[in-house]
Amino acid sequence: SFKKSLGQNFLIDQNILNKIVNAAGLDETKGALEIGPGIGALTEKLAQTAKVVTAVEIDQRLLPILEEVLAPYEHVKVRHGDVLKLDLREVFASDFAGVSKVSVVANLPYYVTTPILMRLLEDKLPLENIVVMIQKEVAERMAASPGTKDYGSLSIAVQYYSEPELVCIVPNTVFIPQPNVESAVIRLRVREVPPVEVVDEQHFFEVVHASFAQRRKTISNNLKSRFFTKENRDTLEPLLLQAGIEPSRRGETLSIEEFARLSAVLLEAGIS
Ligand code: SAM
Repeated sequence: SFKKSLGQNFLIDQNILNKIVNAAGLDETKGALEIGPGIGALTEKLAQTAKVVTAVEIDQRLLPILEEVLAPYEHVKVRHGDVLKLDLREVFASDFAGVSKVSVVANLPYYVTTPILMRLLEDKLPLENIVVMIQKEVAERMAASPGTKDYGSLSIAVQYYSEPELVCIVPNTVFIPQPNVESAVIRLRVREVPPVEVVDEQHFFEVVHASFAQRRKTISNNLKSRFFTKENRDTLEPLLLQAGIEPSRRGETLSIEEFARLSAVLLEAGIS
């Protein structure tokens, strides 16, 4: 039986499995980390393509099935546990010591998509790319450009660490059981260096979050509530202009470069 609470929607379509594996660009020199192997359909494809595969599965009931399906592949390791509680640096050091590059490839449990992806990106693991099946709506937010309705702090966080690319939209019929949301495969090419210079990453992301706190409000009003007091609020507009940003604009129109400049100007003025 399937555990809905664990986001168990298993892939049954060979075509889509091949598409996911191909999008990662794996070969016999590379490693793959799979999150949530389920009953091993994707794991087996990865085993046939990569030099080493590590798969992390939380549901103990699936372990005997995985052991049987993956028995022919000595270079596949199944780890039991919650990927969010795993020390990924340790996993990389022990499992992927002998490979040139590593990809994360997964049909993710949708209830933890964002925490999983943000951890993979923020941990700055030596990853080449991340190819994942996720909810279509989340994929669209991750890949969104400034000025569009899907653009928000998730777009900026993902695009700061990677270059997202929608691989394909996926019909519900490729899963058992069928999820009640639409799905898509997205590829995140992990950046070696950020696209802009950011002085203080924590401050940068706080400015981004504050700017989207209330989408209908201007950047000026959103920043006022988070960073300014009665005493210093007169300095906000000049600081925005110094960063080259019209105070009446909304957060959703600002590019990553503009947020980086804004964060730098605020920091320089001692506002954090
Ligand atoms: N890879 C399989 C496939 O494509 O058919 C299964 C994908 S299913 C959408 C998600 C899998 O992730 C399930 O096997 C579920 O038990 C597992 N899972 C859910 N939460 C997890 C977590 N926190 N850590 C590791 N695995 C998890």
